[in-house]
Amino acid sequence: MHRSKFGTRLSAVLAAFAFLAATFGPLTACAAGKIQIMTATTDLGALAQEVGGDKVDVESIARGYQDPHFVDAKPSFLLKLKRADLLIVVGLELEIGWLPPLITQSTNPKIQVGAPGYFDASRFAKILEIPTGQVTRAEGDVHPLGNPHYWLDPENGLRIAKGIADKLSQMRPGDAAYFAQRYTDFEQRLKQADQRWLAEMKPYEGRKIVTYHRSWPNFAEHFHLNVVGYVEPRPGIPPSPQHTVELIRQMKQENVKVIVVEPYFDLKTPNSVARETGGQVLVLPPSVGGEKEITDYFKLFDYDISKLKQAFDTTH
Ligand SMILES: [Zn+2]
Repeated sequence: MHRSKFGTRLSAVLAAFAFLAATFGPLTACAAGKIQIMTATTDLGALAQEVGGDKVDVESIARGYQDPHFVDAKPSFLLKLKRADLLIVVGLELEIGWLPPLITQSTNPKIQVGAPGYFDASRFAKILEIPTGQVTRAEGDVHPLGNPHYWLDPENGLRIAKGIADKLSQMRPGDAAYFAQRYTDFEQRLKQADQRWLAEMKPYEGRKIVTYHRSWPNFAEHFHLNVVGYVEPRPGIPPSPQHTVELIRQMKQENVKVIVVEPYFDLKTPNSVARETGGQVLVLPPSVGGEKEITDYFKLFDYDISKLKQAFDTTH
């Protein structure tokens, strides 16, 4: 009796092993090699690099100075997607205009939507502006499932990093301790940096700003800024004369002086709004790589906070 129970258990273990071998076979075959990670954006790439260390190769498709909603992905990425073990995406339909065909054409079973190598970072983050009622891309709104610019809150950065670390550990159980240690180290450094950033932003608490696109709600919530209007009438919809007139009226009424513009938007409308309101246009990159010196997740906040402080100091 005892013996057969053991036998059953052993065969269960063997079956589980066979299942794992079938699922992760290609990985075990090249266990010594680095995990090949592709990310949709540079910010996710930076987070993956933090926890993956030298056990991973990371490459991002969108450049940090490109509008992540509208990326003209080069065919060379197809080859890299073919070889990828893990694809990390922002999700919430941010990449809907450019990534799905690349995934399909890669014919890489590991990274197809729903496969173990397809990692949707939005599942780990706090998402703002989730629409109530019917989900729609009516009038071209590019944020139909909530705001996809969620990486601009260090607390979300931490949540995503934890999700990636756990995923990497699943893929390479033998390196689980390494990834856990990398995550702990990142957490410590990020929490320390965040204390500093919050202290730097403290004097500007409640400051009203206008932004071109709705890229900054998570940033604004974390650092206590107040985004009161947008140059775009709706996310993804170019400025219209009527909307611009209304925005200028509102900025004058509420004495708003800083217009934050992501690097990939035309400055014509923001400049004219600034002229009318006596305000200042501040070009602020929302992603790692948006400026040469923004080489990692920490430097993104370092850069943006220092630019914001300058703008607040010179417009008050
Ligand atoms: Zn957007």
